[in-house]
Amino acid sequence: MKVTEHIKNAKGKTQVSFEVLPPLKGQNIKGIFDSIEPLMEFNPPFIDVTYHREEYEYKDAGNGLWEKRVVRKRPGTVGICSAIQNKFKVDAVPHILCGGFTKEDTENFLIDLDFLGIDNVVALRGDAVKNETYFKAEPKGNKYASELVAQISDLNNGIYLDPELENTSKTDFCIGVAGYPEKHMEAPNFDTDLKFLKQKIDNGAEYIVTQMFFDNTKFFEFVKRCREIGIDAPIIPGLKPLATLNQLNLLPHRFKVDLPDELVAEVLKAKDNAAIRQIGIDWCIQQSKELIQAGLPIIHYYSMGKADNIKKIIQSSL
Ligand code: FAD
Repeated sequence: MKVTEHIKNAKGKTQVSFEVLPPLKGQNIKGIFDSIEPLMEFNPPFIDVTYHREEYEYKDAGNGLWEKRVVRKRPGTVGICSAIQNKFKVDAVPHILCGGFTKEDTENFLIDLDFLGIDNVVALRGDAVKNETYFKAEPKGNKYASELVAQISDLNNGIYLDPELENTSKTDFCIGVAGYPEKHMEAPNFDTDLKFLKQKIDNGAEYIVTQMFFDNTKFFEFVKRCREIGIDAPIIPGLKPLATLNQLNLLPHRFKVDLPDELVAEVLKAKDNAAIRQIGIDWCIQQSKELIQAGLPIIHYYSMGKADNIKKIIQSSL
């Protein structure tokens, strides 16, 4: 079923969805299943699986030179989605990136998904490769998520890259995109970022999932501004509980999100990571309760393979 249909079916009740990441190469799928199993009691309408592009590693070649190697540390997004659908009978939503993909690669990726019966995707640009400052698209790839959305929409209309293909089959993907309540880090300002978000919707995206945020007023303001410029698509809030002291600096650095004073003060007073984890849980419960009260049909949790804190949050919020 499409994510948008799940949203329509919510009928005033808040549902919860999760986001997991593929295991590191060398690990098996059991870890993913173990992290999903305890959350199945909440009947998630769908589970997202992130996509991780290639990274460059430099290895000492032993002759005074460094050898550059291209590695993908977390492959398996498509396989995991298919396995989740089979095992848990729940819709799996793979993330698909512009980065590292030519348009041909994208088309073939989407054909695989279509054949596997996966009909939801989240279309993203992706970040710069580690060790590089700016994102670079493949020479024959999509540069922005809006272009990727347009390519997926084309395929939904039976338009493939090869104009000579005849009697083509139409795919039927429901397309989600990312939105940033605190603005995307590269956008020159909020209004410009929203204009590009609208472009993604105009090109065929049907819903938005937000970057994590720790202050609900930022989410509500974001939704208001989206509506003011004519973005009518459902906006799903994304929440991640803070869990370690390191994240106090890491989350703002990596995701360009602000942590509220009150949360920071509590974390700084905490005696150890167990206490910090509890503060993160309590904070996320308050956020969840407020979002549920506001009537949001779905809350998306960045569970990232850790079920215990997410379970506590949902048990105390729903
Ligand atoms: P875009 O929408 O393309 O925007 C990127 C930047 O370009 C923005 O600053 C925007 O304002 C600007 N822009 C857009 N269009 C134009 C234009 N036409 N001209 C000029 N500027 C423009 N990363 C992963 O690698 N794997 C994942 O699985 C993954 N999942 C994610 C899930 C969610 C819900 C979110 C919020 C992020 C996720 N990311 C993931 C991170 C994401 O790839 C990065 O945030 C990336 O930097 C931007 O992706 P985007 O799709 O928002 O890009």
